[in-house]
Amino acid sequence: MKFLICGGAGYVGSHMVRYLDSKQHEVVVYDDLSTGHREAVSPDVAFVQGDIGDAAALSRLFAAHRFDAVIHFCARSLVGESVVKPYLYYGNNVANTLVLLAAMRDAGVDRLVFSSTAAVFGHPQADAIDETHPTEPINPYGQSKLMVERILADAARAYGLRSVALRYFNAAGADPSGSIGEGHDPETHLIPNVLKAVLGQGAALKVFGADYDTRDGTCVRDYIHVNDLASAHLLAIEYLADHAGAFTFNLGNGEGFSVREVIAAAERVTGRPVPHELAPRRAGDPATLVASSLKARERLGWQPRITQLDEILASAWRWHLQPGY
Ligand code: UDP
Repeated sequence: MKFLICGGAGYVGSHMVRYLDSKQHEVVVYDDLSTGHREAVSPDVAFVQGDIGDAAALSRLFAAHRFDAVIHFCARSLVGESVVKPYLYYGNNVANTLVLLAAMRDAGVDRLVFSSTAAVFGHPQADAIDETHPTEPINPYGQSKLMVERILADAARAYGLRSVALRYFNAAGADPSGSIGEGHDPETHLIPNVLKAVLGQGAALKVFGADYDTRDGTCVRDYIHVNDLASAHLLAIEYLADHAGAFTFNLGNGEGFSVREVIAAAERVTGRPVPHELAPRRAGDPATLVASSLKARERLGWQPRITQLDEILASAWRWHLQPGY
């Protein structure tokens, strides 16, 4: 199949491109490089620099290629930033997605997989969050993703667009090759910050709150390997071949680890201490976020492969040890 990967130079997107390439699919990456990295996409893969809000550029792209499906990773994704810059988030994540959807419709491309997030749920009301959990986002980032999910449901009814929204819990780790990985600037995510602290890059890790109602007082998250996310996207596209409609699936391992447990695992894996200090809670962090991914397992046949926290950390560590990562 031939895929358009919007945001294919970003963290999850670049792993998706690598995964599709390994399955002999044809890929064109479209990315404005606002947060992605050109070097994360192999020179052998077709790359077009552009913005999904640019209707003329998209129209040229769809005229030049006959895509079977689009996988859409382009987004702003920092919760804190979304609170202070909501127009940026609604503009990028919602308005620009509408431009992409219109271009797909004009070109007759009717299959889409969309990167959504556990942030659509807001404060968790259950130990394991399944797809029936209420969606009440508590920040503009989560709102923007939920708005797109709703647009996709309307588009299925009105235009017959087939879509799957995949709600990632905590994407983590790196391709076992060590050649691509997670590199945000600024970096806000726990695992890269833990590994930076191990490497002495910047200050000690700040542990945001140790007074949560969890087993050791620090926040619990469900870390899912980025290549397992990639495999779910391809299964989702295959699912759409014989299922019409707009579907949502939660993607996680179903097991939560606290910040302290992640630090301990990083010390085991790297054999080095993680310099860290206690800091105040970060605004908007729920105590626990753990997925139930039963629906993805049952309907998509999804089976995460790299499920041990140590293994996830080891893959991220390999990437952090590359010169100039
Ligand atoms: N966290 C932390 N120090 C950091 C980054 C994150 O203590 O430098 C905590 C954060 O408060 C949350 C967990 O680690 O409880 C996971 O945060 P991350 O930003 O990786 O993902 P999120 O769950 O916010 O999507």
